[in-house]
Amino acid sequence: MILVLLGPPGSGKGTQAKKLSALRGWPQLSTGDMFRSAISKGTEVGLKAKFFIDQGALVPDEVVIKLIEERIQEADCSRGFILDGFPRNVLQAESLDAMLSRLGRRLDCAVLFEISDQALVERLSGRRTCEKCNSMYHVAHSKPHQDGICDQCQGKLIQRTDDYPEVIEKRLVVYHHQTEPLVGFYRQQNKLASLDARLSPAAVAAALGENLS
Ligand code: AMP
Repeated sequence: MILVLLGPPGSGKGTQAKKLSALRGWPQLSTGDMFRSAISKGTEVGLKAKFFIDQGALVPDEVVIKLIEERIQEADCSRGFILDGFPRNVLQAESLDAMLSRLGRRLDCAVLFEISDQALVERLSGRRTCEKCNSMYHVAHSKPHQDGICDQCQGKLIQRTDDYPEVIEKRLVVYHHQTEPLVGFYRQQNKLASLDARLSPAAVAAALGENLS
Protein backbone atom coordinates (compact mmCIF):
# COMPACT_ATOMS: atom_id res chain seq x y z
CA MET A 1 0.00 0.00 0.00
CA ILE A 2 1.40 3.37 -1.04
CA LEU A 3 -0.70 6.10 0.45
CA VAL A 4 -0.69 9.91 0.37
CA LEU A 5 -2.30 11.80 3.25
CA LEU A 6 -3.44 15.10 1.79
CA GLY A 7 -4.74 18.06 3.76
CA PRO A 8 -3.87 21.40 5.33
CA PRO A 9 -1.39 21.78 8.19
CA GLY A 10 -3.04 20.79 11.47
CA SER A 11 -5.66 18.54 9.87
CA GLY A 12 -4.31 15.50 11.73
CA LYS A 13 -2.28 13.80 8.99
CA GLY A 14 0.72 13.25 11.25
CA THR A 15 -1.33 11.79 14.10
CA GLN A 16 -3.14 9.41 11.77
CA ALA A 17 0.02 8.45 9.88
CA LYS A 18 1.61 7.42 13.19
CA LYS A 19 -1.43 5.37 14.21
CA LEU A 20 -1.69 3.66 10.83
CA SER A 21 2.02 2.99 10.73
CA ALA A 22 1.88 1.28 14.14
CA LEU A 23 -1.15 -0.75 13.05
CA ARG A 24 -0.05 -1.90 9.61
CA GLY A 25 3.73 -1.62 9.74
CA TRP A 26 4.07 0.79 6.82
CA PRO A 27 6.60 3.53 7.65
CA GLN A 28 5.40 7.11 7.99
CA LEU A 29 7.36 9.36 5.64
CA SER A 30 6.83 12.85 7.00
CA THR A 31 8.86 15.41 5.09
CA GLY A 32 8.22 17.97 7.85
CA ASP A 33 9.69 15.57 10.48
CA MET A 34 12.64 14.82 8.18
CA PHE A 35 13.39 18.54 7.87
CA ARG A 36 13.01 19.14 11.63
CA SER A 37 15.40 16.28 12.33
CA ALA A 38 17.88 17.65 9.75
CA ILE A 39 17.61 21.10 11.36
CA SER A 40 18.31 19.76 14.84
CA LYS A 41 21.34 17.86 13.52
CA GLY A 42 22.56 20.96 11.67
CA THR A 43 22.93 19.18 8.30
CA GLU A 44 23.16 21.01 4.96
CA VAL A 45 19.54 20.05 4.10
CA GLY A 46 18.46 21.31 7.53
CA LEU A 47 20.17 24.66 7.07
CA LYS A 48 18.56 25.09 3.66
CA ALA A 49 15.10 24.06 4.89
CA LYS A 50 15.03 26.19 8.05
CA PHE A 51 14.97 29.47 6.14
CA PHE A 52 11.77 28.46 4.30
CA ILE A 53 10.05 26.63 7.17
CA ASP A 54 10.42 29.61 9.53
CA GLN A 55 8.54 31.76 7.01
CA GLY A 56 5.78 29.19 6.44
CA ALA A 57 6.94 28.76 2.83
CA LEU A 58 7.60 25.53 0.98
CA VAL A 59 11.15 24.19 0.86
CA PRO A 60 12.34 24.13 -2.80
CA ASP A 61 11.00 21.18 -4.79
CA GLU A 62 14.39 19.75 -5.74
CA VAL A 63 15.41 19.43 -2.07
CA VAL A 64 12.24 17.62 -0.97
CA ILE A 65 11.97 15.43 -4.08
CA LYS A 66 15.55 14.16 -3.61
CA LEU A 67 14.85 13.43 0.05
CA ILE A 68 11.74 11.36 -0.78
CA GLU A 69 13.31 9.61 -3.76
CA GLU A 70 16.14 8.34 -1.54
CA ARG A 71 13.87 7.46 1.36
CA ILE A 72 11.36 5.32 -0.59
CA GLN A 73 14.16 3.08 -1.81
CA GLU A 74 15.12 2.05 1.72
CA ALA A 75 14.32 -1.53 2.72
CA ASP A 76 11.50 -0.70 5.14
CA CYS A 77 9.47 0.86 2.30
CA SER A 78 9.34 -2.33 0.26
CA ARG A 79 5.89 -3.37 1.61
CA GLY A 80 4.40 0.08 1.36
CA PHE A 81 4.59 3.50 3.01
CA ILE A 82 2.52 6.49 4.10
CA LEU A 83 3.41 9.88 2.68
CA ASP A 84 2.59 12.62 5.17
CA GLY A 85 3.24 16.15 3.88
CA PHE A 86 4.42 15.11 0.43
CA PRO A 87 3.51 15.93 -2.31
CA ARG A 88 2.60 19.55 -1.63
CA ASN A 89 2.20 20.85 -5.16
CA VAL A 90 1.49 19.48 -8.63
CA LEU A 91 5.15 19.32 -9.65
CA GLN A 92 5.94 17.16 -6.59
CA ALA A 93 2.94 14.92 -7.35
CA GLU A 94 4.10 14.43 -10.94
CA SER A 95 7.63 13.70 -9.71
CA LEU A 96 6.22 11.13 -7.28
CA ASP A 97 4.33 9.36 -10.07
CA ALA A 98 7.48 9.37 -12.21
CA MET A 99 9.77 8.03 -9.46
CA LEU A 100 7.28 5.31 -8.52
CA SER A 101 6.93 4.28 -12.14
CA ARG A 102 10.76 4.06 -12.48
CA LEU A 103 10.68 1.69 -9.48
CA GLY A 104 7.83 -0.36 -11.02
CA ARG A 105 5.39 0.78 -8.32
CA ARG A 106 2.31 3.00 -8.16
CA LEU A 107 0.36 5.09 -5.71
CA ASP A 108 -2.77 3.37 -4.40
CA CYS A 109 -4.73 6.16 -2.81
CA ALA A 110 -4.68 9.82 -1.72
CA VAL A 111 -6.87 10.57 1.30
CA LEU A 112 -8.01 14.17 1.76
CA PHE A 113 -8.44 15.44 5.34
CA GLU A 114 -11.27 18.01 5.13
CA ILE A 115 -11.49 20.80 7.73
CA SER A 116 -12.13 24.58 7.81
CA ASP A 117 -9.38 27.20 8.19
CA GLN A 118 -11.02 28.46 11.38
CA ALA A 119 -10.76 25.05 13.05
CA LEU A 120 -7.15 24.76 11.91
CA VAL A 121 -6.05 28.06 13.40
CA GLU A 122 -7.48 26.98 16.76
CA ARG A 123 -5.76 23.60 16.56
CA LEU A 124 -2.38 24.81 15.36
CA SER A 125 -2.02 27.75 17.73
CA GLY A 126 -2.64 25.43 20.72
CA ARG A 127 -0.50 22.60 19.40
CA ARG A 128 2.57 21.45 21.29
CA THR A 129 5.03 18.99 19.78
CA CYS A 130 7.58 16.70 21.42
CA GLU A 131 11.00 17.85 20.29
CA LYS A 132 12.26 14.25 20.53
CA CYS A 133 9.58 11.97 19.00
CA ASN A 134 7.25 14.54 17.33
CA SER A 135 4.15 13.34 19.24
CA MET A 136 1.46 16.03 19.22
CA TYR A 137 -0.54 17.53 22.09
CA HIS A 138 -2.94 20.46 22.49
CA VAL A 139 -3.01 22.96 25.36
CA ALA A 140 -6.80 22.53 25.75
CA HIS A 141 -7.91 19.26 24.16
CA SER A 142 -5.03 16.83 24.44
CA LYS A 143 -2.87 17.61 27.45
CA PRO A 144 0.07 15.42 28.48
CA HIS A 145 -0.08 13.73 31.91
CA GLN A 146 2.77 15.94 33.11
CA ASP A 147 2.86 19.57 32.04
CA GLY A 148 5.34 20.19 29.17
CA ILE A 149 6.56 16.56 29.07
CA CYS A 150 5.80 13.97 26.38
CA ASP A 151 3.83 10.92 27.60
CA GLN A 152 5.56 8.68 25.06
CA CYS A 153 9.26 9.45 25.53
CA GLN A 154 9.53 12.08 28.32
CA GLY A 155 10.86 14.57 25.74
CA LYS A 156 10.25 18.31 26.13
CA LEU A 157 7.08 19.72 24.53
CA ILE A 158 7.65 22.83 22.46
CA GLN A 159 5.63 25.14 20.25
CA ARG A 160 7.01 24.80 16.73
CA THR A 161 8.09 28.19 15.40
CA ASP A 162 5.90 27.57 12.36
CA ASP A 163 2.89 27.17 14.69
CA TYR A 164 3.14 30.86 15.68
CA PRO A 165 -0.05 32.74 14.56
CA GLU A 166 1.54 34.85 11.79
CA VAL A 167 3.24 31.79 10.28
CA ILE A 168 0.05 29.67 10.49
CA GLU A 169 -1.73 32.25 8.34
CA LYS A 170 1.01 32.06 5.72
CA ARG A 171 0.98 28.24 5.72
CA LEU A 172 -2.76 28.21 5.06
CA VAL A 173 -2.36 30.59 2.12
CA VAL A 174 0.39 28.34 0.75
CA TYR A 175 -1.86 25.30 1.23
CA HIS A 176 -4.79 26.82 -0.67
CA HIS A 177 -2.62 28.08 -3.54
CA GLN A 178 -0.16 25.26 -3.97
CA THR A 179 -1.42 22.07 -2.33
CA GLU A 180 -5.19 22.21 -2.83
CA PRO A 181 -4.88 21.73 -6.64
CA LEU A 182 -3.79 18.18 -5.80
CA VAL A 183 -7.41 17.39 -4.92
CA GLY A 184 -8.28 17.73 -8.63
CA PHE A 185 -5.05 15.99 -9.64
CA TYR A 186 -5.87 12.84 -7.67
CA ARG A 187 -9.59 12.99 -8.43
CA GLN A 188 -8.71 12.87 -12.10
CA GLN A 189 -6.57 9.80 -11.46
CA ASN A 190 -9.51 8.22 -9.62
CA LYS A 191 -7.39 7.87 -6.50
CA LEU A 192 -9.01 10.42 -4.22
CA ALA A 193 -10.83 9.51 -1.02
CA SER A 194 -11.81 12.00 1.68
CA LEU A 195 -12.75 12.08 5.33
CA ASP A 196 -14.08 14.56 7.89
CA ALA A 197 -10.97 15.67 9.79
CA ARG A 198 -13.02 17.58 12.43
CA LEU A 199 -13.92 14.28 14.09
CA SER A 200 -12.03 12.80 17.05
CA PRO A 201 -8.71 11.07 16.29
CA ALA A 202 -10.37 7.67 16.92
CA ALA A 203 -13.24 8.44 14.51
CA VAL A 204 -10.81 9.71 11.85
CA ALA A 205 -8.72 6.55 12.26
CA ALA A 206 -11.85 4.45 11.71
CA ALA A 207 -12.78 6.45 8.59
CA LEU A 208 -9.24 6.08 7.27
CA GLY A 209 -9.34 2.31 7.84
CA GLU A 210 -12.61 2.11 5.90
CA ASN A 211 -11.06 3.92 2.96
CA LEU A 212 -8.23 1.41 2.87
CA SER A 213 -10.25 -1.77 3.16
P1 AMP B 1 4.68 19.84 8.13
O1 AMP B 1 5.25 19.30 9.38
O2 AMP B 1 4.29 18.79 7.14
O3 AMP B 1 3.59 20.85 8.35
O4 AMP B 1 5.89 20.64 7.42
C1 AMP B 1 6.52 21.74 8.03
C2 AMP B 1 7.19 22.60 6.98
O5 AMP B 1 8.18 21.82 6.27
C3 AMP B 1 6.28 23.13 5.87
O6 AMP B 1 5.58 24.30 6.27
C4 AMP B 1 7.28 23.38 4.76
O7 AMP B 1 8.03 24.56 4.99
C5 AMP B 1 8.23 22.20 4.90
N1 AMP B 1 7.78 21.07 4.08
C6 AMP B 1 7.31 19.85 4.50
N2 AMP B 1 6.98 19.07 3.47
C7 AMP B 1 7.25 19.78 2.34
C8 AMP B 1 7.11 19.54 0.95
N3 AMP B 1 6.60 18.38 0.49
N4 AMP B 1 7.50 20.51 0.08
C9 AMP B 1 8.02 21.66 0.52
N5 AMP B 1 8.15 21.99 1.81
C10 AMP B 1 7.78 21.06 2.73
